[in-house]
Amino acid sequence: MCGIVAVTGYRKALPLLIEGLKKLEYRGYDSAGVAVINSESNIINCDKSEGKLKNLITKVKDKSIAGTVGIGHTRWATHGKPLIKNAHPHMDSTGKVAVVQNGIIENFLDLKADLEQDGIIFKSDTDTEVIPHLIQKELNNLSKLDLESNGSTLLIAVRNVISDLEGAYALAVIWSGAPDSLVVARKQAPLIIGLGEGEFVCASDTPAIANFTKTILPMEDEEIGLLTPLGI
Ligand code: GLU
Repeated sequence: MCGIVAVTGYRKALPLLIEGLKKLEYRGYDSAGVAVINSESNIINCDKSEGKLKNLITKVKDKSIAGTVGIGHTRWATHGKPLIKNAHPHMDSTGKVAVVQNGIIENFLDLKADLEQDGIIFKSDTDTEVIPHLIQKELNNLSKLDLESNGSTLLIAVRNVISDLEGAYALAVIWSGAPDSLVVARKQAPLIIGLGEGEFVCASDTPAIANFTKTILPMEDEEIGLLTPLGI
């Protein structure tokens, strides 16, 4: 049971993510982390800390990241010790895809073995890290089809990847190739979307959304969504 929070909109994402994580800390205190797409550089800024959320807050308190799209996580470890290398968000090898996950990917060892055969070097012991690597691989395949680089491309890539995942999970994904977009998906793990004015927040539980909006859309089981400031 981890806590996920994710935002896309017009306000700076980092403070919104931290506020959301404060409300989700009861779901896990092994580590915490955030990733935000910096709208000035188009690079994903990722910060993580071991232990309670206060350690992450201390780490990012003087940071001002311009990005309005980001994901956050508070972890209760299932695969991999509660170390910083296992803290979420997890990223692909290029640093362009970041993922937070709540749940267990039961077939991760098989998926990991295939990716290692392709030359991917894993940085963590978690089940989650296969996901960003698989998404990057899928994005590479899609780029050969001359598709535009936008949120729909990310949606297709995530949809294709989750069809290979076994287990129960909720996840949120960002990609620097679509800097206004957020893709979220769930299967037998909770995820709800808060509908704001020109902004959306997605989280594991309502307290993380309560200060943001009263309008909540629970995601259906096995539903996937693309969120941008313009809509869902
Ligand atoms: N299996 C993931 C991990 O250990 C998520 C854990 C959870 O949802 O509790 O990193």
